[in-house]
Amino acid sequence: MEKNDGFMKALRCRECGREYPLNATHVCEFDFGPLEVVYDYERIKHCLTKSVIHGRPETMWRYRELLPIAHEPTVGFQVGYTPLVKADRLARQLGIRELWIKNDTVNYPTLSFKDRVVSVALSRAKELGFSTVACASTGNLANSVSANAAAVGLKAYVFIPADLEEGKIVNSLIYGANVIGIRGHYDEVNRLCAEIAGKFGWAFVNVNMRPYYAEGSKSMGFEILEQLGWRIPHHTVVCMASGSLLTKIHKSYQEFIKLGLVPDAKYRIHGAQASGCAPISTAHKAGMDFFKPVKPNTIAKSLAIGTPADGFYALRVLKETGGSGDDATDDEIREGMKLLAECEGIFAETAGGVTVGVAKKLIASGKIPANDSAVLCITGHGLKTLDAVVGHVGRTREIKPSLREFESLLNAENHSELLSR
Ligand SMILES: *Cc1c(COP(=O)(O)O)cnc(C)c1O
Ligand SMILES: [Zn+2]
Repeated sequence: MEKNDGFMKALRCRECGREYPLNATHVCEFDFGPLEVVYDYERIKHCLTKSVIHGRPETMWRYRELLPIAHEPTVGFQVGYTPLVKADRLARQLGIRELWIKNDTVNYPTLSFKDRVVSVALSRAKELGFSTVACASTGNLANSVSANAAAVGLKAYVFIPADLEEGKIVNSLIYGANVIGIRGHYDEVNRLCAEIAGKFGWAFVNVNMRPYYAEGSKSMGFEILEQLGWRIPHHTVVCMASGSLLTKIHKSYQEFIKLGLVPDAKYRIHGAQASGCAPISTAHKAGMDFFKPVKPNTIAKSLAIGTPADGFYALRVLKETGGSGDDATDDEIREGMKLLAECEGIFAETAGGVTVGVAKKLIASGKIPANDSAVLCITGHGLKTLDAVVGHVGRTREIKPSLREFESLLNAENHSELLSR
């Protein structure tokens, strides 16, 4: 009783159920199963009511009892509560009645949903006494670790595949983080980081801190339910890298049901991947419980994980909720990015193009029925992945600073009706 773990009870193995103390550790010693945070829901039920939530600042921390920290957060006070946008114009394009965009392209401070997981992992790392933090990343995680570490004076080492987009690399370097480019795919970066984590006493947010880190993703789901007016959408489409976000959206819905914050209702969670790296959605389509690792080759570099750590559990969520898995080609990804930008004024990165591209297929095939409601999780900002769309978005028409030239341009483009006003 004297030890204060907040509302956390233990870390528990997802395979055998053995419990572990709430340290910086992530696998079961007996079967190497992943560890997950267990909470005291009875106590939480008394503390976390709708009116308590309403009375708190509009950040992800308004659900702090369901996040894995023992005390008040110390990193990332402003993170979360991003807009849930009613996307009527996109809905008309895709042929669905009710469509929403959960817009994490404007998350604080580094414009992706990773700010959620990082503020949790670093707050917990500080509670556990770490002074150096690190991660294996496909780009956005490195950005968020670099920025959030800088903001609270933690030392940061971030490991990335060396061939990432310039935008993702610069967005880590600017904060003074140690950026290590590995010549190889993410899976090789990750394997190296597991070795480093075992040897150095650092808090690797997605290795030894993974049980805490992953819980941060739930806040995206909590916000969706609250912003929808305390109800669960029929369909939620989530893009998948390791598959962690998708499993945690499911967990967030389950927790709100368990706490009585939303009515129990049937919902489906759908998983979206890039065709050039689709181990999870391919396995789901084939009716398999396990995925086959792949070598990634896609413009959606944030999602390029060929051996997804939570792939097995993501498959289980798709199956349990009756969701679908599908993939989008590079061209479909760009088309999805443009569609979202042109219909809703939201510039998402390639991962967002994957989500929109797959949602379009699922609606067209009736897997998401036209009369249902759907939420698309848009996870990162397009300014970081300019490389993917340069040369695919039309061109600037250049003229001299002269009214005459402008008028002849309109004439040449058959917009002469504009001239008569
Ligand atoms: C990391 C990331 C994801 C998904 O990550 P998971 O490993 O599946 O949790 C989705 N979109 C973007 C932009 C990301 O950076
Ligand atoms: Zn175990």
